Amino acid sequence: MSSAPEAASPSRVADEGVLVVGAGISGLACARALHDAGVPVRVVDRGRVPGGRLATKRVEGRPADIGARYFTVPEGSSFEGSPFEDLVGSWRHRGLVREWTDTFSALTVDDSGAVTARELKTGPMRFAAPGGLRSLATDLAASLESDGVTITQGLEVSAVEVVAGAGDPGAGVAVDGVPYGAVVLAMPDPQAKRMLAPGSPASDALSGADAWEPTLSVVLSYEARHWSPELHGAFVGGSSVLAFVADDGDRQGDGAPVLVAHTTGAFAREHLEHPETAADAVVAAVRALFEIEAAPVSVVVHRWTFANPARQHDEPFGLVGAIGVCGDSWGERSSVSTAWASGDGLGRELARRLAPAGDGSENVVAPDADELERRAGTRSPAGGDDAVAGDAP
Ligand SMILES: Cc1cc2nc3c(=O)[nH]c(=O)nc-3n(C[C@H](O)[C@H](O)[C@H](O)COP(=O)(O)OP(=O)(O)OC[C@H]3O[C@@H](n4cnc5c(N)ncnc54)[C@H](O)[C@@H]3O)c2cc1C
Repeated sequence: MSSAPEAASPSRVADEGVLVVGAGISGLACARALHDAGVPVRVVDRGRVPGGRLATKRVEGRPADIGARYFTVPEGSSFEGSPFEDLVGSWRHRGLVREWTDTFSALTVDDSGAVTARELKTGPMRFAAPGGLRSLATDLAASLESDGVTITQGLEVSAVEVVAGAGDPGAGVAVDGVPYGAVVLAMPDPQAKRMLAPGSPASDALSGADAWEPTLSVVLSYEARHWSPELHGAFVGGSSVLAFVADDGDRQGDGAPVLVAHTTGAFAREHLEHPETAADAVVAAVRALFEIEAAPVSVVVHRWTFANPARQHDEPFGLVGAIGVCGDSWGERSSVSTAWASGDGLGRELARRLAPAGDGSENVVAPDADELERRAGTRSPAGGDDAVAGDAP
């Protein structure tokens, strides 16, 4: 998406502020950047709790990660020494984040689902959260709220229209009829597209549903651990059902006998209408993979219609007039860190464009370590939550 010549109008923003739609990590990063630059901002999300695909569901009395499996802090890239690294440092310092592992298994299976080849793959350190990854979004949201930013959950936005008042050269937007200086759609492109007028420049710049892959996340809780303590997680090749299996007890550090299986996109597509019908095939595939005799005590299936983009935009975010779009498809590789950087970058760019002439640059500053610590002191304790944001097909 490219920039349109007409930017959002500073006067409109001063009066009406910026609305960030989506309290996933990209929307929360965007709201933080806008707020830190002195731009009035509020956040809405249709889910009951913040986090989006940083999702944790309470199963058998504990939080299980059903969205992002982990996150990494890319090294040797522009992230090094970046605010994301500082943020992760703050999370680690406060015990919200733990190093999980840098090593996963890569398992190849035959048609029966039995393992025919296995190797260990070492890569970057994968970080996890003892309270589930959603606790990180909860933390970001609590910090914004303690700074006076309003975050409204359970509110679904339907329509975003461009408006320009008489005598006002700057574009503004109406979000479900309410005027704002600018709007940020922080979510997968197909979800953002639903709100925009078909054929409008902003809509045309976004990818459709065919450019996104679905997946099912299946939480399998057992009475005891029936797999190697060295498992951590496994990429699965050659399976029509499984793509990845995580040892959730190992990931969160409580040792709970819980696996979370992520299915292939093709398998998920067959079960999008009735995801619960996928449970038996996933249980059988996991049983064959790890030679587990025992049946799980519970199986919970969660559908992600838009789990990962199949294609990435070249730009770090989209901005057409007063409509911004950010998320994990804006950047080199879909990931939590990309989503954060996209939201942060869009927030900074919007703030730069909206700042009154002459005092813009000094308004747009990254929080330093002291500021992060100050915010840390005002945050609510994080914890797993027991709700899952809606993922309407
Ligand atoms: C199963 C799975 C596994 C993954 N594994 C990894 C991994 O291992 N490592 C990694 O780095 N990344 C992983 N990811 C990707 C990672 O979760 C995402 O990149 C990141 O969380 C995206 O954040 P976001 O803010 O861009 O979007 P989202 O988290 O999707 O947030 C969008 C928000 O917008 C809200 N919303 C949508 N439409 C509306 C509307 N009309 N009105 C109001 N609110 C609306 C939604 O409720 C949601 O909260 C995984 C994703 C999935 C689903």
